[in-house]
Amino acid sequence: METSTGIDAKQRLSAKLLKAVLMAACVLGISVSCVQIFFDARQFSKGIDSEAWQMLAMIREPSTQAAYKMEPTTGEEILFGLMEHQSVHIAAIKIPNEPELAVIKRDLSKSGYRYFSDYLFEPVRIYRIPLYKKEPVLEHYGELFLAIDTAHHGQEFIQRSLIVMVSGIFRAIAMAFLLYLIYSLILTKPLNRLIRNLYQINPDAPGPHKLSMPNSRQNNELSIWVRTANQLLESIERNLNLRQKAEAQIMRLSQYDYLTRLPNRRTLQKHLQNLINKPGSSDGNIAILCLGLDDFKSLNAHFNFNAAEHELIKIADRLRNHIGNRGFIGKLGEDQFAIILSKITQPYAAAEMAQALLKQLATPITVNDEKITINGTVGITLFPDDGQQVDNLLQQAEFAMIMAKSRSQNRYQFYIASVDTEIRQRKKLERDLHEALKHHELSLVYQPQIDFKTSRMVGAEALLRWKHPEKGLISPEMFIPMAEDNLEIIPIGDWVLESACQQLHEWHKTEFHDLRIAVNLSAIQLRDKNIVDRIKYLLEKYQIPPRLLEIEVTETSIMEDIELSSEQLNNIKATGITLAMDDFGTGYSSLSYLKQFPFDKLKIDKSFVEGLPGNKENTVIVEAIIQLGRSFGIKVIAEGIENREQETHLIKSGCTEGQGYFYSKPLADQEFAEFLRNWKNKSTSSRKRTFPNEPDVDNH
Ligand code: C2E
Ligand code: MG
Ligand code: MG
Repeated sequence: METSTGIDAKQRLSAKLLKAVLMAACVLGISVSCVQIFFDARQFSKGIDSEAWQMLAMIREPSTQAAYKMEPTTGEEILFGLMEHQSVHIAAIKIPNEPELAVIKRDLSKSGYRYFSDYLFEPVRIYRIPLYKKEPVLEHYGELFLAIDTAHHGQEFIQRSLIVMVSGIFRAIAMAFLLYLIYSLILTKPLNRLIRNLYQINPDAPGPHKLSMPNSRQNNELSIWVRTANQLLESIERNLNLRQKAEAQIMRLSQYDYLTRLPNRRTLQKHLQNLINKPGSSDGNIAILCLGLDDFKSLNAHFNFNAAEHELIKIADRLRNHIGNRGFIGKLGEDQFAIILSKITQPYAAAEMAQALLKQLATPITVNDEKITINGTVGITLFPDDGQQVDNLLQQAEFAMIMAKSRSQNRYQFYIASVDTEIRQRKKLERDLHEALKHHELSLVYQPQIDFKTSRMVGAEALLRWKHPEKGLISPEMFIPMAEDNLEIIPIGDWVLESACQQLHEWHKTEFHDLRIAVNLSAIQLRDKNIVDRIKYLLEKYQIPPRLLEIEVTETSIMEDIELSSEQLNNIKATGITLAMDDFGTGYSSLSYLKQFPFDKLKIDKSFVEGLPGNKENTVIVEAIIQLGRSFGIKVIAEGIENREQETHLIKSGCTEGQGYFYSKPLADQEFAEFLRNWKNKSTSSRKRTFPNEPDVDNH
């Protein structure tokens, strides 16, 4: 039987205790009673003897008289008096050498107790006392004989013993019950109450439940036990809370990005998987947009780390607010977000969202009192058209974004199967590039630069070419970022510098004595501590006047580490060479940088020259750049001039130098020399340009 405490009744401590106490009490009761009976038996035995002796003493005198007088009748009368004692079996007055003077006899008792009493006290006890007369002379008359039947005394003794035994056992049992009750009251009951209390405790939240103190409130073992148990419960609760908090934190960290609090890649994957698994998911497309921030790393370098993080949080908030409940946004990487749009009926809905997000990004954000615009590029994949697997869909969206970025930034692009192949080819190219220098697949071409004032070809920009054994010519716009990614640009850039210097040395030696050469320097090279020494060494080795070597760096490459760039540029400048800022206008184009860095020349990016003079916006930008250069005393060169209108407009606006297909495409060394010779020969007054504003720019 189960009790309220859930313990089998037989197994309960109190039941066991009761059993043990009862058994002990019975054994004890029986033992004590036995001892008492033993002593009683001895007392009874003595009692029988003393009663017999008393009887004999009582009739001794008259019996002596009867023996003396030889009166059997008197003797019998005397003896008859003894018969009132139930225990007398035989009484006789014996005279020596004579038959008994008097005898009385009674049959032995047939009592049922006989069996025990005979064993304890013998069946019959015999007593004799001599009958004699002392005075005047001692004279022996006979003897008094008494046989006692012990059965009567034995019966009495056994009855008494039974009472002693039974009462002894009862007493012991009563004592046992009393003990049991006391034990139950003091220990078992409070223990049971505690057990019932314990049953009510919720193991997952033991804290709020307290074990109730035993009523006595004394400082006994139980109350100490309860207090300690309560303290234990509290500490379990405390630890449980801490564990729960830690688990929640781990859960949050494992599911969300710690900075932006957006779901992380794993959560995104789960969400996408759920959407795909959902019945009816085939009703419409699911679009996965991978949004990568453009040039976030340079922003990181421009501001301190905290400001960049702050910026990222703002961007995440902005995107989240814009998307609302139309989609699910998460963070894929340091500067990448993923947006999942379900039930897209037409892909253009995804394109619209991509465009809207790019627009959202384009709104400037204020960081450290400075207005910053961050652009992004979006890659889009569609379920089920582009794939069925979550991982593939996300990866393809990323690929599409990377590919879009490598073409131009601030745009979106859908994933198409060919993108995958393109990425794979790109990876192979990266491996091939590693071998390109060793296999002499790299070469330089030179694009002439014209001085508008004199119409002389005063310089050349050295441009790198890679002739891939299978794929043919590969654009530097494709392989230079790759080389920058895996630092291959250091040995390649070094080779470019040396080859350009060597070529210039050749030309200086032969016919073009004051030709200048411009070499593009990548951001990675700019950060290289050895670059200044390397330039100095090459100038010396190839005996090049420093002013005839021009180094082109882009604005964005400076931004990657402004302090280091500033230091490096100043050191480069100190060697006396010319510094040009390439692609001016495409980056931050901040005035403060122009002041901070020692540039001799601004190079207007070809994208601004493109629409001149028809494109009003470009016209304004180009004129502004030229004005800026003039006010800072910096020369301005325009690249990408493709026709006379552009040239005329640039000259009219005050630009001092130009470069572009209008004059010549980049040429191999021999062709370039040939081109220069031809140019010189043809250089007549008809070629001389006119300068309406006659800009007066120092030739540093
Ligand atoms: P960049 O330094 O701005 O070079 C000018 C680019 O414009 C060259 O492309 C040139 O061929 C092209 N170009 C010149 N005139 C015209 C024109 O009239 N119209 C058009 N549409 N384009 C014209 P290229 O040679 O493909 O070089 C692309 C970029 O690759 C360069 O831009 C430069 O950033 C990088 N690059 C090239 N060679 C090197 C190098 O040796 N080292 C480094 N770090 N970068 C290099
Ligand atoms: Mg350049
Ligand atoms: Mg350029």
